[in-house]
Amino acid sequence: TPRTYLVTGGAGYVGSVVAAHLLEAGHRVTVLDDLSTGFRTSVPAGADFVEGRVQDAARWLDPAYDAVLHFAACSQVGESVADPDKYWRNNLGGTIELLAAMRDSGVRRLVFSSTAATYGEPVSELVTETDPTAPTSPYGASKLAVDHMITGECRAHGLAAVSLRYFNVAGAHFSPGAGAAYGERHDPESHLIPIVLQVAQGQREAVSVFGEDYPTADGTCVRDYIHVADLADAHLLALEAAVPGEHLICNLGNGNGFSVRQVIETVREVTGHPVPEVIAERRDGDPAVLVASAERARERLGWVPRRPELSAIVEDAWSFAQRARDQRATDRSGATR
Ligand code: UDP
Repeated sequence: TPRTYLVTGGAGYVGSVVAAHLLEAGHRVTVLDDLSTGFRTSVPAGADFVEGRVQDAARWLDPAYDAVLHFAACSQVGESVADPDKYWRNNLGGTIELLAAMRDSGVRRLVFSSTAATYGEPVSELVTETDPTAPTSPYGASKLAVDHMITGECRAHGLAAVSLRYFNVAGAHFSPGAGAAYGERHDPESHLIPIVLQVAQGQREAVSVFGEDYPTADGTCVRDYIHVADLADAHLLALEAAVPGEHLICNLGNGNGFSVRQVIETVREVTGHPVPEVIAERRDGDPAVLVASAERARERLGWVPRRPELSAIVEDAWSFAQRARDQRATDRSGATR
């Protein structure tokens, strides 16, 4: 049956991909986004759009919504260290208002965009949801605080909630038929795969490898990359799996680690470009290895990733980057005509 969903942060990378999946599954979607980091053009064409802040969610929340999917947040680790107040204000402050508005309007189902950054330095090879949470940045701390807030809301007021803790999200989504594409377009870009693709496109000269003296096989950091469309699948399953009074927390990753060098090598293979690299200092707060156990997501949500190979993830990210470049070229020639 078609349902009606409010997607906060639906003009951002993950939010827009999930909104597109919901629409493709036949649901109705309203996107709430303040466009502070997202783009109006990223909102799927079939969605209603409200430009506004999560803090003012009460204005738009009404009992017509079957659930809220909450992505709107500040999400840069480095920025959060420099400007922690912004992270508490937006991530925690926004969600306090959102939960109150949901309570007042009787919307009792929530899927929250949490993060591997809630764990901090991992204590085990495969991070499980019962591992200790000791975030190393205000970003991770603010997301963890929201998770605690949601737990309390479930216990006290019967909210049905699922928090999904993403590991390294990458790749892009292409709508069947319509030709719309949804991918990563942060400005400035800070994530590894889009940066390496910018080098392949000739927009940057080289990729900086942040440290090659980590205790890993090739000395560079190891991460668990997950395709954004597999991530979106998990959100649709989570909407169904949420149980009143329970806060379910699930990691999302493939359980496979790839080093920074392996990512760069995969980009060389996929794009056919040489991709020069330079060795740089370690980046503050980077753990050596961060790989998920997603056993709980498999068990509780019935989630099965469909594109676990790194090459498939990089291929889709590359297609999106090429389309975005062609689009920019078209926009430029249009502007000079
Ligand atoms: N990284 C790098 N060069 C870059 C960007 C990232 O070596 O220009 C490394 C970073 O240190 C980390 C990995 O790539 O080990 C993934 O970083 P990203 O920012 O993509 O995601 P994070 O793991 O921080 O969530």
